[in-house]
Amino acid sequence: MGMKPLILLLVAAGVGRPATGAAQGAPVAKPGAGYVAKDSLTKGSYTLVFVSKDSAFSPVTKQRMMDTFFAVYPREAKRFNPRTLKKITFVVDPAYDGVAATGNGVATYNPAWLLKHPEDLGVVTHEVMHVVQAYPNGSCPGWLTEGIADYVRYAYGVNNVRGDGSYPTTRPGKTTPTATASWPASWSGWSSTGTPK
Ligand SMILES: [Zn+2]
Repeated sequence: MGMKPLILLLVAAGVGRPATGAAQGAPVAKPGAGYVAKDSLTKGSYTLVFVSKDSAFSPVTKQRMMDTFFAVYPREAKRFNPRTLKKITFVVDPAYDGVAATGNGVATYNPAWLLKHPEDLGVVTHEVMHVVQAYPNGSCPGWLTEGIADYVRYAYGVNNVRGDGSYPTTRPGKTTPTATASWPASWSGWSSTGTPK
């Protein structure tokens, strides 16, 4: 266990974890460091595929993300888009340096962010709403898409109280439209690759 915080720190810093030489008791990465874990869970009519490219990713956080998905996605779908995708993929990717981004039914999460902000399960509620939104390209302005997803995060989120306060609330380099000023946060800057669908 003594080595673990150091390993997590290395991963957070984007440095590959050593494949050998780990302290006694610490998990050892497979040679090649291309470790990928993939799980699939189906509840009712929805399936979540969970891919982790970070072998040090907290199994507790993973479980909580999956629990959050099954708690919020069916409710979001029922209210906003019953024809939304039935199968969603989560990818935990140390190479992604934003917070999270979603497109084409795939939500990508930055494990370094979740390591620092393990209570921010609202990120799951927000990102999967982008799947539900499924607006045809260009039919909804980005700030509105983000505002709606944030509204849903607050209305449907399962961990809002503990997760509050850790979210980025502004988009660097971009003015927040007046219309969104009363909304809790603007996520657009953190979903830069995620032209939500
Ligand atoms: Zn977003």
